Amino acid sequence: MTRGRVAALVGGGMAAVHAAEALRREGFDGRVLLFSAEQHLPYDRPPLSKALLRGELTPVDCLLRPPEWYAEQGIDVRLGVRVDALDPDRRTLRLDTGEHVGFDRALLATGAHPRWPAGLGPAGGPVFALRTVDDCLAIRSRLRPGASVAVVGGGFVGAELASSAASLGCRVTMLEATEAPFQRVLGRTVGELFGAFYAGRGIRLVTGAPVTGASVGSGGARLTADGGRFTDADVVVVGVGAVPDTELAVGAGLRVSDGVEVDAYCTTSVPHVFAAGDVANRPEPVLGGRVRIEHWQNAQHQGTAAGRAMLGIRESFDGVPWFWSDQFGLNLQVAGFPERADRVVVRGGLEGGRFGAFYLSGPTLVAMLGVGCAGEVHLSRRLIAARVHVDPQRLTDEHSGLRDAVLASDVPTA
Ligand SMILES: Cc1cc2nc3c(=O)[nH]c(=O)nc-3n(C[C@H](O)[C@H](O)[C@H](O)COP(=O)(O)OP(=O)(O)OC[C@H]3O[C@@H](n4cnc5c(N)ncnc54)[C@H](O)[C@@H]3O)c2cc1C
Repeated sequence: MTRGRVAALVGGGMAAVHAAEALRREGFDGRVLLFSAEQHLPYDRPPLSKALLRGELTPVDCLLRPPEWYAEQGIDVRLGVRVDALDPDRRTLRLDTGEHVGFDRALLATGAHPRWPAGLGPAGGPVFALRTVDDCLAIRSRLRPGASVAVVGGGFVGAELASSAASLGCRVTMLEATEAPFQRVLGRTVGELFGAFYAGRGIRLVTGAPVTGASVGSGGARLTADGGRFTDADVVVVGVGAVPDTELAVGAGLRVSDGVEVDAYCTTSVPHVFAAGDVANRPEPVLGGRVRIEHWQNAQHQGTAAGRAMLGIRESFDGVPWFWSDQFGLNLQVAGFPERADRVVVRGGLEGGRFGAFYLSGPTLVAMLGVGCAGEVHLSRRLIAARVHVDPQRLTDEHSGLRDAVLASDVPTA
């Protein structure tokens, strides 16, 4: 019997909603409280750099669940309320309204907030970061045809922003601190291929240019990069990554490194407090060490696993990560851990709409990026989990597939 018990979910994103859903699906009949610092019901973030930014969707289209779902499920949602302290011994939350709320189990699903480059903070005016629906709508209102847009950061959100702005008729400059977009995550070889692809779509790419400051003038901003170079733009959007929202966990004395440390069951260093989504840092059983994953599917599945774990249903959560990005007419998908590779093997080309990049650590496949080959990316997740060895020569052959390159496997590939 769970009646009378309280499950408190801190955060109003994908992970919290999936935890709430799992609690009810598993028969929890106590109170489910969901606190979100945002004024909006939980919504999907991927459209913020894509269809919502282009005006093809409205905020209502992006809601994760329809408004009536929360009442139907008996989920008590408090919007615009920040939890500003968690006391694990007394099992209470302190809200920014001054209230104290008791709980039996709590979930931290606080997500992340935008990182700002050193020397460039939230300068106001036309300088934005993109994390929330409000950020998206504010940016969108300035993306008029002919407007000059500077995107700081050549990562996935930056590339999607550039793509959306270009499709609206803006003149886009992308400033990347390293030598190529995606270099930090996908390596220079693949990054340069994407850089050439963007240039072919009219994006002005400025690489090796860490931005060091911004000055806001009437109607625009001037960005200064290393070496004194500068770029003027009507709109500046910063997309240089995100920082996990660990403040509550730190205040509560939980173990925190890059994110809130959890075990394979989403449990933090305090047994009745759990964490999931962008904020959680979990053990990585395939390649060892720990990982914090900032992807939609991870937030969804780990949120579900955490909701179940709050009821004592312990199933380890350790799937090989996967995510997608839509940009310039390409749907690209990435599985695994490219940052753990020491070598990348490339097949096909972006212009042809069929491309594969295979990331190896020694002979072992550790990640794959695919365009136009979703089935292979899906297969690669299983092969990465099985730590298969692959033949790099076969991987470059456009006439054979990933399956043909496997040298040794103990997983069925059918
Ligand atoms: C622009 C953009 C595009 C993206 N595109 C893709 C994509 O194409 N593919 C992909 O796989 N992933 C994508 N992602 C990543 C994906 O959206 C995230 O991984 C996912 O949203 C994480 O969900 P979450 O529930 O962990 O955290 P979040 O969605 O960040 O939700 C956390 C919520 O908790 C609230 N909160 C924080 N602290 C408190 C507190 N103390 N009290 C109350 N509330 C609090 C926050 O305000 C926020 O509403 C994108 C992200 C962004 C920003």
